[in-house]
Amino acid sequence: MNTYSREKLHKALKHFFGYDEFRLTQLPIIESVLNAEDTLAIMPTGAGKSICYQLPAMLLPGITIVVSPLIALMKDQVDALVANGIYAAFLNSSQSQEEQSRVIKDAQAGNIKLLYIAPERIPANSESFFTFIRSLNPSLFAIDEAHCISSWGHDFRPEYLKLAVLKKQFPGIPVIALTASADKVTQNDIVQRLALHKPQIFISSFNRPNIYYFIQPKREAFGHILEYVKKHKDDCGIIYALSRASTEDIAGRLHQAGVKAAYYHAGMDGGERSRVQEAFQRDDYKVIVATIAFGMGIDKSNVRYVIHHDVSKNIEGYYQETGRAGRDGLRSDAILYYSVGDIIKLKRFIQNDDPKQAAISQKKLQLMQEFCEHEGCRRQYLMQYFGEEFPAYCGSCDYCMSSLEEKDATVDAQKLLSAIVRTGERYGAGYIIDFLRGSASEKIQAAHKELKTYGIGKHLKKEEWQWMVQQLLYHKFIDKTDDQFVTLKLNEKGWKILKGESELKLVMKKEKEQVLEEEEQEYDKQLFNDLRSVRSDMAEREHVPAYNIVPDNALIELAKYLPENFDELKHISGFGDYKISRYGANFLRVIKQYAEEHNLTSKIHFKKPKKEKKAPAKPTASATQKATLEMFREGIGVPEIAVLRGLSTATIDNHLAYFVASSELDIYKLVSKHKLETILSTIKSTGQTFALKPLKDLLGDKYSYTEIKMGLEYYKRIS
Ligand code: ADP
Ligand code: ZN
Repeated sequence: MNTYSREKLHKALKHFFGYDEFRLTQLPIIESVLNAEDTLAIMPTGAGKSICYQLPAMLLPGITIVVSPLIALMKDQVDALVANGIYAAFLNSSQSQEEQSRVIKDAQAGNIKLLYIAPERIPANSESFFTFIRSLNPSLFAIDEAHCISSWGHDFRPEYLKLAVLKKQFPGIPVIALTASADKVTQNDIVQRLALHKPQIFISSFNRPNIYYFIQPKREAFGHILEYVKKHKDDCGIIYALSRASTEDIAGRLHQAGVKAAYYHAGMDGGERSRVQEAFQRDDYKVIVATIAFGMGIDKSNVRYVIHHDVSKNIEGYYQETGRAGRDGLRSDAILYYSVGDIIKLKRFIQNDDPKQAAISQKKLQLMQEFCEHEGCRRQYLMQYFGEEFPAYCGSCDYCMSSLEEKDATVDAQKLLSAIVRTGERYGAGYIIDFLRGSASEKIQAAHKELKTYGIGKHLKKEEWQWMVQQLLYHKFIDKTDDQFVTLKLNEKGWKILKGESELKLVMKKEKEQVLEEEEQEYDKQLFNDLRSVRSDMAEREHVPAYNIVPDNALIELAKYLPENFDELKHISGFGDYKISRYGANFLRVIKQYAEEHNLTSKIHFKKPKKEKKAPAKPTASATQKATLEMFREGIGVPEIAVLRGLSTATIDNHLAYFVASSELDIYKLVSKHKLETILSTIKSTGQTFALKPLKDLLGDKYSYTEIKMGLEYYKRIS
């Protein structure tokens, strides 16, 4: 039924939305919808759920009806679509009767591709409503925030229950339900209550790789926040605080320090609240200090940081709030200031709840505390909390960044393991490490000082070797005896590493701390600011938020690649055909002027088309080959390497031959010049390039197999 090839879908994505690639599970979801299957799409906030129904809406013949619970969000989404030249409209209680009838007329005339409807607009048993929908000839129903139908979810909305009859009314029309809700009960509930027919279910990972997590001790929190906010003065951010009073206090102090910040909490009247929210959407206020009441309706893609001045009540809330950062996929920070005092305060609040609820809340708070005090990767903790496996190292949280990095440790581990073996598996970590580091101490036996492995590990500090021993023990690559004198022994797993049969990645402690350090983006900051200001002008003229024109990452690409004309502009992410024709000229003018003033030219050729076929990857050396090379470079001969590693000399020859062939290893380190000449001429005269034995017979005993093998590799390379 689906007649859309992937190529066509990519083209449509670029044409309507200006994006080069689908994210996560967008593509299979869209294919499922276009195949007229009922579909349940579960993706974290900010991952890009909207495209999953918006793109099909553009390709299907009739109208797509989108049910969405949040009026503010609805307007935003429609604005964003209109900014892409797409016919979209909404119906909700915020509109006048007149506006509503105009939208209805437009829809009935077939002038609208996407119609957003608030659930309260659907009367429970109203035949007339469904008759109206039928008159629009719908092709697809999209139920956004579908967890609202479940009383298990954290945001149950009874009006959503009206959707239970949708499939009965329109059995032939596919429904796509979308949610960011992670829990299984809610997911099942959605399927049941919407009566989805054999739904295709797509669950994406909840990891948000562009959000960096930092937990800092709460000492002089305001001072740190002020410093951070000032350093990021061009960025938008949200600062969460627990009480209304403290939002006002923090916003006031920021204001005094010259930061344009506003506060937001549930104690303000509705008008004031939406004024602040809209000002933030339009970048008029860059910083909002808010209680958690703020954010449900926020669909702002360029929130660069979320700061928690106080600890959250539970991990769900924390994750949802931090998830409001970085919806555009650019690096964003989530910083929480933690103190045990806050936990104690929250505990007292909870005691006022009804006992059953209080017990659950206490447990959740306890886990929040555990998370804040966790000595390990923050992201791993979060992912495991949501039931996903995740490695112990993410590289983008305060713990990983300040103390760890993951490295290929195969070669160093092999040195350690061979030291254990060569000294007879009779010593503890202390001796082995001293031996490895070539300690002159008399404690090291004289015979051991004669071994080739003695002093082979000088490049690492004592503590680094200790850390490695701990990890090898922890991951069970070596065993420890429980005797009076603890000794280290290899086990089967350890031997595999030593023989190079498996590689080893270990998380290693890092020397330098670099928490919260910026990654330098390579683009022209001044041009970026110029572009940002034309964008603001256009946004003001059109009364839309700036990021609706194009998001920040599109401006960054412009400032990086300096496109000169409309064709080049097509390569910039975020510029669909409509936006190119509408805003392209203005941006190009700014770039042109800037480029002339600074003597720059287009760098668009550096932006590789994403779907280009990759050149076949160059084969890379395996860990075992590298291990051999490393030992060889340290001056250990082939026979000794073979013994040390428990491999045959022929295997070691093969390893080294690989590097001779790839010219990473100088042939003369293995064969003298004079011998090489003879070997090469012998090969030439016989024309024999695969077997060693006939060459060896001709060359005689003076030439070793190793030398002949290397000569042969060298010959193959140069010819
Ligand atoms: P969600 O509804 O899942 O929270 P949205 O649909 O609002 O997320 O999308 C979040 C942001 O990601 C939006 O700014 C959207 O335009 C952008 N986006 C979505 N899909 C893509 C894509 N394939 N490539 C680049 N940006 C995308
Ligand atoms: Zn981490």
